[in-house]
Amino acid sequence: MSADTNATKATETPPALVAARSSAVVSSQTIIHLLSGGLDSVTMLYDLKAQGHAIHCLLFDYRQRHKQELQWAITHAQRCGVLYTTMELPDLGGLTEQSWIVPNRNAVFLSVAVNVACKAGADTVTIGCNAEDTEYFPDCRKAFLDAMNASVRAAGYEVEICAPYLDWPKWKIGGLAREMGIQANEIWTCYKGGEKPCGECPACQKLQAVMK
Ligand SMILES: [Zn+2]
Repeated sequence: MSADTNATKATETPPALVAARSSAVVSSQTIIHLLSGGLDSVTMLYDLKAQGHAIHCLLFDYRQRHKQELQWAITHAQRCGVLYTTMELPDLGGLTEQSWIVPNRNAVFLSVAVNVACKAGADTVTIGCNAEDTEYFPDCRKAFLDAMNASVRAAGYEVEICAPYLDWPKWKIGGLAREMGIQANEIWTCYKGGEKPCGECPACQKLQAVMK
């Protein structure tokens, strides 16, 4: 595992930010935000930024087929003028041509994020799990996240894992993204690894539907 930390300053004009949504407000002042480059985590980044939090984004390069998502994640972190770290987990296994589910991926990502939070003095880790992830991704479910928080507390770490969009359907996240000026073509959600999003996989179709 290796990490490449990039202290960035905004190099481009950030999109217009909107006021915080009371239903998804996080109380922390310092956040480690898991940023993938997909709709949920990118929207949450702008949302948290609008709420005035100090944010450090954590990106994972696990040799995902859809590696373009990382470049978009970096672009959005730079636009928001926040710190970001790219962590390499080249041996994380499970992705196949048939499946995009990496077993226990969020447990790995969240555990690393708690470690980074402890190092950085942050008290909160945020993740973009939402109501429509829970069917296919067991490590996006409330019971799983509650158990992760229980394990963090049991170990004595004063860090809380928050999933502010856990009850949100995708259309609600898409609506907030549009309000914030996030463009559909600046999000990478496609499960396939082509030059451009395929437009046909479930993720592409859902993005098109919610960003209309
Ligand atoms: Zn696709």
